[in-house]
Amino acid sequence: MIPFAGNPLNRASEKRTNPEWIARKLRDSSSLILPLWRLEPFLLGSANDPQPARLGLLPPKNLEALAIAEAPCIFLGLDDETAIFTLDLSSSPNPAIDGPLAGLGYFCDARTAAQIVSLREAAIIAQAKALIDWHQRHGFCPRCGSPTMIMDAGYRRLCGKCNAEHFPRVDPVVIMLATEGDACLVGRGKQFPPGMFSALAGFMEPGETIEEAVRRELMEEASVRVGEVSYYATQPWPFPSSLMIGCFAKAQSREFKVDENELAEVRWLERGAARAAIEGQTVEGVRLPPPIAIAHHLIKTWAFGEL
Ligand SMILES: [Zn+2]
Repeated sequence: MIPFAGNPLNRASEKRTNPEWIARKLRDSSSLILPLWRLEPFLLGSANDPQPARLGLLPPKNLEALAIAEAPCIFLGLDDETAIFTLDLSSSPNPAIDGPLAGLGYFCDARTAAQIVSLREAAIIAQAKALIDWHQRHGFCPRCGSPTMIMDAGYRRLCGKCNAEHFPRVDPVVIMLATEGDACLVGRGKQFPPGMFSALAGFMEPGETIEEAVRRELMEEASVRVGEVSYYATQPWPFPSSLMIGCFAKAQSREFKVDENELAEVRWLERGAARAAIEGQTVEGVRLPPPIAIAHHLIKTWAFGEL
């Protein structure tokens, strides 16, 4: 399973437009709320505890004193019969240090948290963080500039002036492993740590198919021409709101020319080297991404011939 995928919640979207049901569930002592503070999810216990960690889903009474009217409280879905919400506490000073959450747990950056909780909890983090992040950036109407209001338990914003509706966005990104014979193409972004290589990636553009975006990005970044493009898997990537679309692409030759504005370096990596690097070794100065990244799974699937 790819981290951030596999969300276990029943989103029960029909409940979002039922404010009485939402209000009742927010008072129900069996409901659970995941606090986020400055986009960091709450985890139970202490950062020094042995892992795996547990997501800090708390009963509503723990959060009564912290909830303020303007703070987004979003219905994430049902876990069996239990209603799960997320609450943005960003306007408070760190509530894990002082106040009703003190001693219960700590806030942890989402990328780290996703690597130390279970896969099902990581997927809930992806949903909660992407939604709260979207609300933080969409307080004003892009059409007329007036303030917008939260509607539908967090799944819509409505402009109070021009009535334009705004919905949480998902930004598609293609991430592709070009292969040629027994080698795959990896690149090092300019901002990557030394030695870190990954599959090439880029945002899709309007009016473009997934296959066209894969071909364009490989041509732009590495001047690699590819034929067949095949779909692998997708991954929600809540930094802030991407959907990573993993693909394989068959290159027509190993010739390349790196676009130095985009990448520091590009290399063809032989299958044996890719196998060792994906298992954590540094091979020929190349390290590959950890399992939180879909690139890891893309490279591993190809390297071990599961394709
Ligand atoms: Zn407006």
